[in-house]
Amino acid sequence: MTDPSRPPRVSVLLPYKFDAAFTYEAETLLPPGTLVRVPLGNRMVVGAVWDEAPDAAVKAKPVAAVLEFPPLPENLMRFIDWVASYTLAKRGDVLALGLKEALLAPPPKRAKHYEFGGANPALPGPHLSPAQDKASAALRADVAAEKFSVTLLDGVTGSGKTEVYLEAVAEALRGQKQALVLLPEIALSIQFLQRFCSRFGTKPAVWHSELTPAQRRETYRAVVEGRADVVVGARSALFLPFPKLGLIVVDEEHESAFKQEDGVMYHARDMAVVRARFCSCPTVLVSATPSLETAENAATGRYKKLDLPARHGGAALPEVHAIDLRADPPERGKFLSPRLITAMQETLARGEQAMLFLNRRGYAPLTLCRRCGHRISCPHCSAWLVEHRSHARLICHHCGHTVQKPSQCPACETENSFVPIGPGVERIAEEVAEIFSGTEALVMASDIISGPVQAQEAAGRIERREVGIIIGTQMVAKGWHFPHLTLVGVVDADLGLAGGDLRAGEHTVQMLHQVAGRAGRAEAPGRVLLQSFAPDHPVIMALLSGDLPEFLRQEAALRMPGHWPPFGRLAALIVTAAEERLADQIARDLARHAPRGEGIEVLGPAPAPISLLRGKFRRRLLLKTARAIAVQPVLREWLAQVAVPRNVKVDVDVDPVSFM
Ligand SMILES: [Zn+2]
Ligand SMILES: [Zn+2]
Repeated sequence: MTDPSRPPRVSVLLPYKFDAAFTYEAETLLPPGTLVRVPLGNRMVVGAVWDEAPDAAVKAKPVAAVLEFPPLPENLMRFIDWVASYTLAKRGDVLALGLKEALLAPPPKRAKHYEFGGANPALPGPHLSPAQDKASAALRADVAAEKFSVTLLDGVTGSGKTEVYLEAVAEALRGQKQALVLLPEIALSIQFLQRFCSRFGTKPAVWHSELTPAQRRETYRAVVEGRADVVVGARSALFLPFPKLGLIVVDEEHESAFKQEDGVMYHARDMAVVRARFCSCPTVLVSATPSLETAENAATGRYKKLDLPARHGGAALPEVHAIDLRADPPERGKFLSPRLITAMQETLARGEQAMLFLNRRGYAPLTLCRRCGHRISCPHCSAWLVEHRSHARLICHHCGHTVQKPSQCPACETENSFVPIGPGVERIAEEVAEIFSGTEALVMASDIISGPVQAQEAAGRIERREVGIIIGTQMVAKGWHFPHLTLVGVVDADLGLAGGDLRAGEHTVQMLHQVAGRAGRAEAPGRVLLQSFAPDHPVIMALLSGDLPEFLRQEAALRMPGHWPPFGRLAALIVTAAEERLADQIARDLARHAPRGEGIEVLGPAPAPISLLRGKFRRRLLLKTARAIAVQPVLREWLAQVAVPRNVKVDVDVDPVSFM
C-alpha cells in the first residue's frame, strides 16, 4: 500500500550504461514516457519515466524538473525493452540511441532546414505499370488496415520499387499517420530525395549522422510532435519517438549496413519488423536481391511477398557475360582485359557511359619491398596499410592510422624499393587515364566523396554527361539511376569470395547484381562484363544466368544441414583486451563454461580474423543453436558463470553479420 503522506515515486530509465530504471520521488504521479531531469551522483541528467513499479524501500532523491516535451510514446518504450532483451544490451544504452539531452534543447527560431507537414498525398500519383499498380494496391490496403504485417517487395533492378512504396507512404499520410523509410547509406538518399520531391512536391525530414546539431534538434522535435510526416533515415531513425507511425519501409533490406557493429549490436531490418509490431503497422522490406533470411520467411509464408518481375518502362535487363582472365588476361602490370577495354571504347563511341566497379578504396591494398618482401602493416591492427595516392599517405582502413610512404625499407634499408601490389580504384583510374586520355573519368569512393553534398555534385556531373567513365567502390552499387550508363565492368568479380565467411557468396551475388543493375536503365540496352579467374564458380554462374531464386535455393541447401542461419541461430562473443594473455585467459574461461546440450554448439575460442584492432587483442567464440532454441537465455546463463575483469571487454553479437 502506498503511504499517502509520502510523495509518489516513479521509475526513471536513464540513457546511460544501466539496465535498471532508478526510483525517484515526484511531486505528482508522472505519466510513463515523461521526460524528467534527475540527479545522478553529483550531476543532473535527463531520463524517461518508465512504466514499471518503483522501489518502495530505497532512499529516493526527488525529480529536479519535468521537461516541457511530449512524453515518449508507449510503443517506443516497449520497443526499447524488447531490443535490450534481444541483443543483451543495457536498456539505458538502447534508450540512448534515440534520446540524448542535446536533442531536447529548443531549436533556434530561424533554423528551418526542412519543410515539415507539407507532403501532399493528394498530388496525382505517377503512371504505374500494371504490375506496379497491383503491388501498390496491396501495400495501400495494408497501410489502410492499420495492422501489423510484413511484406517483401521483390523487384528486379529498375522495376520501379520506389514508386510502388511511395504510394504506400501516400496512403499513410492520407490516414494522418507518419511513415519511416530506412536506407542503408546517406549517399543513396540524394536521388531518393529527388524522387520523393517529384512525387510529393516537398522534402521529407532526414535523419543520419551528417546532420548539424540544430538540424537534429529541429527534426527530433518535429517527429515527436507529429509534424514530420515522413522521415528518411539511417538505421538509428528506428529509435525516434514517432507518436503515430503507420508504415516502415526498409529499402535494400539485404544490405549489411543495416547491422550496427558496435555498442548496441542490432540489425535494423529485423528491429524494424519488431517496431512495426509494437506500432500495429505494416513494414515493407524492399530488395532486388533479398537476403536468404527474408526470402526464407517469404517462402514459409511468415512474410507476404509482392513481385515486380520486369523493368519499368519496357527497359530490358542487362546482358551479363564473364571474361575469363586466364584466357583473356590484361597486359602485364595492368588490370583491364583487352575485351573490357574494347567494350568501353564502343560504349564511349556511342556517346554512352561506362562504369568500372572495384570494391577497394585507395591505390593498392598492399605495399611490398621488392628486395626483401617486407610489407607495411599497421602497428595497431593486424592489417596492411593501404596506399592512397589522392592523400599521398598509407592508411589503415581499420583504425585510420596514417604514415607517409617510407623512401627506404625499414627491414633491408634499400632506397625506393616499395612497390604497390594489386589494384584499388585509384590505380584503375590511373590505367583508365592512360587508355582513355580524352575522356573525363570520376572516382566514387567514400574517402573521396564523403558527404551528401559531394555525392549530389557527382551524380549531377554524371547525369549531365560531363563524365564518360565512372570508377567506383560499393558506393556506386545501388540506388543510382544513370540513364546514359550502358556498360558495367566488374574489375575483380572474385574479390568478395576470398573472405570465406558464411554469407560471402550471398553478399557477392547481391553486390554484383546490384552493380550490374546500374546498366541500361533507360532506352539503350545494358551490358555487364565480369572479369574472373573462376567463371564457373556458382556465384559467377548465378550472375550470368540471373536466376537469383535458384542461387538462394542452393545456398539454403548448403546451410540447412549444419543449422546455419536462417535454419539455426548464431551469437558471437568477442573478447577484447590490451593484454594478449588476458584476452586468451578470458576466452579460455568462457570455453570451459560453454553451454552444452542437444542443438547447442560452441565454436572457438580462436583469434579473430582481425586479431589486433586499435591496439587491442581480440578473440572470438561462436554459439550456434537449433532454430527452436533462443540464444538469449543460453547466453545469459553462460556469461553469468565467468567473472570478467574490468580491463577485459566481452561483446555479445546476436545474429552476427561480420565475423571479423
Ligand atoms: Zn626491404
Ligand atoms: Zn590500424
